[in-house]
Amino acid sequence: MDAPSQFGRFHRQIILPGFSIEAQQRLLDSHALVVGCGALGCASVDLLVRAGVGRLTIIDRDVVEQTNLQRQSLFTDDDARRGIPKAEAAARRVREIDPTISVHGWVDDFRAENALSYADGANIIIDGLDNFETRYLLNDLALRRSIPYVYCGAVGYEGMTFPVLPSVGPCLRCLFPEPPSPGVAPTCDRAGVFGPAVAVAAGFAVSVALRYLAGIFEAHDCDLVSFDLATGRLRRTKLGSSAREKNCIACVQERLDFLDGTRSSQATTLCGRNAVQILPASSGAIDLIGLAQRLSQHGAFTVESGRMRGELRSERTSTGASYELTVFVDGRAIVRGSSEPSDARRIYTQYVGL
Ligand SMILES: [Zn+2]
Repeated sequence: MDAPSQFGRFHRQIILPGFSIEAQQRLLDSHALVVGCGALGCASVDLLVRAGVGRLTIIDRDVVEQTNLQRQSLFTDDDARRGIPKAEAAARRVREIDPTISVHGWVDDFRAENALSYADGANIIIDGLDNFETRYLLNDLALRRSIPYVYCGAVGYEGMTFPVLPSVGPCLRCLFPEPPSPGVAPTCDRAGVFGPAVAVAAGFAVSVALRYLAGIFEAHDCDLVSFDLATGRLRRTKLGSSAREKNCIACVQERLDFLDGTRSSQATTLCGRNAVQILPASSGAIDLIGLAQRLSQHGAFTVESGRMRGELRSERTSTGASYELTVFVDGRAIVRGSSEPSDARRIYTQYVGL
């Protein structure tokens, strides 16, 4: 195949300042690992495949639901009606966009136990997540394997993104040493999420990824970018080597607790009770009354004797019943309605927040 026809699809990108056929070839030779394929993952995958990143690995544990369609741009009404796994629907969509791209969609819970194998051969890790615990796992994974990781988050009208470049710039734990306690950070299910905020966050994150992979990365690509579309505010913070924390537990002391499994949340099936207990990795007293108020749009929750309890009316178990959620003041929770740990972990992540 001669050069013009091989690269014709990417012509408008190749003629950009800084880009070239050589830069495009570097993208085609690259492998991006996208962890989580909700709104941010969908937006990122769409940009990566259209830009010509030659190999994509997508991991997500959930199925497509109707409430996803407002912002999760790779999925259709039919996917939601049939409850297709997101990783499967995303991979199919990627093949439709560009059949020459090698894509693998894995329906799996991304955990310390499988993280290293999913990262095999990856040149960059893109954050499509909805929880902090797995972001700290990605940070550890990036440091252990020396693979750049692009942090990306969006909730409400706001978003934030920055790259973790092992041994060059700060890591996630240099900037935020500990993940927020359960129930503290807003989640999309409690606070909502504006589709354009997802697109802006993923746009910045994939810009950094593409420029890194294409070899046209500049110092400003290391910046932390945060924005609020409700006010129009956008802020850039320089993140050079001086932003590294000299005693960082992860990138300096090399204690990768989330990858080594000592800081993972635990999900344990409670035998014979159709319930799973969740023990979060971070502990801290939860404001149960505040949590009950924030969850009031999803069901009636009551607080007594150090625990909050109620039924999640917006979710249905595989048998059509509703889930019952009990959260204790130390963050421990029991999700009743399923004996599947990944199912309970999803409920906890979405409604309490990990
Ligand atoms: Zn660090």
